[in-house]
Amino acid sequence: MSKFTVFWFRRDLRLEDNAGLYEAMRVSQNVLPLFIFDKNILDQIEDKTDKRVQFIHSCLVKMKTELNSLGSDLLIRHGNPLDIFKQLIKDFKIEAVYTNHDYEPYAKDRDHRVAIFLQEQSIEFKSFKDQVIFEKSEILSDQGKPYTVYTPYKNKWLASLDEFYLKSYPNNRYRHHFAKIKKIEALLTEKNIGFTFDNFEFPTEEVNSKILSKYAEQRDFPYLDKGTSLLGIHLRFGTLSVRELAREGKKFSAVWLSELIWREFFMQILWHFPLVEKKSFKEKYEKIKWRTPKDDFELWCQGQTGYPIVDAGMRELNQTGHMHNRVRMVVASFLTKHLLIHWHHGERYFAKKLLDYDLSANNGNWQWAAGTGCDAAPYFRVFNPTSQQEKFDPDFKYIKKWVPEFGTEKYVKPMIDHSFARNRALAEFKKGLEQ
Ligand code: FAD
Repeated sequence: MSKFTVFWFRRDLRLEDNAGLYEAMRVSQNVLPLFIFDKNILDQIEDKTDKRVQFIHSCLVKMKTELNSLGSDLLIRHGNPLDIFKQLIKDFKIEAVYTNHDYEPYAKDRDHRVAIFLQEQSIEFKSFKDQVIFEKSEILSDQGKPYTVYTPYKNKWLASLDEFYLKSYPNNRYRHHFAKIKKIEALLTEKNIGFTFDNFEFPTEEVNSKILSKYAEQRDFPYLDKGTSLLGIHLRFGTLSVRELAREGKKFSAVWLSELIWREFFMQILWHFPLVEKKSFKEKYEKIKWRTPKDDFELWCQGQTGYPIVDAGMRELNQTGHMHNRVRMVVASFLTKHLLIHWHHGERYFAKKLLDYDLSANNGNWQWAAGTGCDAAPYFRVFNPTSQQEKFDPDFKYIKKWVPEFGTEKYVKPMIDHSFARNRALAEFKKGLEQ
């Protein structure tokens, strides 16, 4: 039986410019592609029509078809990754498993267990940097410490960037190194993994240079259809390479490139300070007396607060899985300051709904909005939803799109008075921080 090198796909669902896949194909002439629908993750998803699972599945279908045309296949499994590997080594003679780094706490733990198991079987386990330009401790301060403020991190990031980091991996060169598979496996269906899919249209993976060129002027206006790239889901699941995107950013928009740097900033925060997943980065903010009113939280979730820009954002999220960044900031500020509800509840709600949900970016931005995070907005900065609307949706275009009853008798009255809410937030934050 010939020996295989397995390549395990996770957040890197593409055959081109894929670092770990390239390394596998360079050293082995018998690369067996694998994807695992991880039961530990899928079982926690309550909504069995979750669009992200559908997105992943559609990417797998594409990759499998392409691999089949090369005489190879993509193995798709459903289960606990460790159990899957235990079975896989019975079915195939495996000499190595290659993959790309995943920096989230659960993934680190999972990979550690898989690595130990494989090591016990004398199977090599190798992982590579792929989803970021700079990872882990590659960007540190001159004192050798992780940055906790964005601007100096960004400056160091830009100063460290050279062509080497932006170069694509030429996977195509080794296409003939995919294992030849005689009996193509049947596709694992939505039913097999306990989900139901529909004909949802996902944002395309086309990188639009026109959008990038105008990004600096247009990115803050949620009523514009193409003010931002909408590439979040592709960055999340690696259907586009970050190296390609950073090159485009460099060419067309320094401001857009700086958004990719925010992404890496929060990834390294999660890497160095994994506690932020559960706790405020600034510990003293744990003392704030958050409110826990279920009804208020529900009104926020449903977009029924009576503040039209907040309601438009929440309804956009509920209906499409996306919300414009400016509006994400407004709704997050409203929940944590106006309603004094702990950022964790909002963060969890976004985690269920956002197509581009990413633990590090979501957590980092929620903590930024709440004032509890590393380089956060100061606690006394309370967004005024009305002036945000006046500035960023002056003609109510965005609002009317998502809140059609706005301006009629049917639209709800504000659930809370702005000045009252603002003063209460300032008082409670101050009290908590002075303890
Ligand atoms: P563009 O504006 O075109 O930006 C390009 C890419 O840069 C994005 O796709 C994203 O990968 C990255 N990026 C942009 N802004 C940020 C940022 N502030 N922080 C980190 N990365 C950024 N982004 C996520 O990718 N996942 C999340 O779960 C997420 N949750 C958020 C929660 C809150 C409360 C807030 C205020 C922001 C959040 N963001 C999150 C950041 C930002 O809102 C989205 O990245 C952006 O709206 C996605 O739209 P786009 O793809 O058109 O991005």
